[in-house]
Amino acid sequence: MAAQQSVSAHICQQCWSNPATLCCRDCLPRPFFCDKCDVMMHTRYVLHNRETMTAGFFQPLPPTTYVLNKTLCHDARLVPVETPVRICDCPSEFLRIKPGKAVAMVTINGRYDLRMPELVCEASDATWTSGVHELNLNWEDLCRQLPEKFFLSGKP
Ligand SMILES: [Zn+2]
Ligand SMILES: [Zn+2]
Ligand SMILES: [Zn+2]
Repeated sequence: MAAQQSVSAHICQQCWSNPATLCCRDCLPRPFFCDKCDVMMHTRYVLHNRETMTAGFFQPLPPTTYVLNKTLCHDARLVPVETPVRICDCPSEFLRIKPGKAVAMVTINGRYDLRMPELVCEASDATWTSGVHELNLNWEDLCRQLPEKFFLSGKP
């Protein structure tokens, strides 16, 4: 109860201007976020344990759920693997990143449904798909995001 009161009383500790709508147990020592700063931070740190207060009680959020105007919204979240700077000879502004293959990450906190990133060039239709290779390359970085051990089910 004490913790609940502290969320609604807090302001976002990233921008210091908007009221906090959720807190993240892995963003210590600054766990309080507004809607916007949460999306900015946690599209990159997808495995963090976030909780929102929008329903009047603490509610854990999967990485694919975010808050907009006190409503829970859903969007694909990408596994944070490194993507190449270029995949063809076109200028990089033609590159678009989009959700690719679905992959499930299982942690002690539950199952996270994420997508592997995919690059598409809008000029030449060249594509790049990430897979097991990129996951392995970025494994340490992923583990740093989440202290607890986790494993993958459903190979990308
Ligand atoms: Zn903020
Ligand atoms: Zn976080
Ligand atoms: Zn191209």
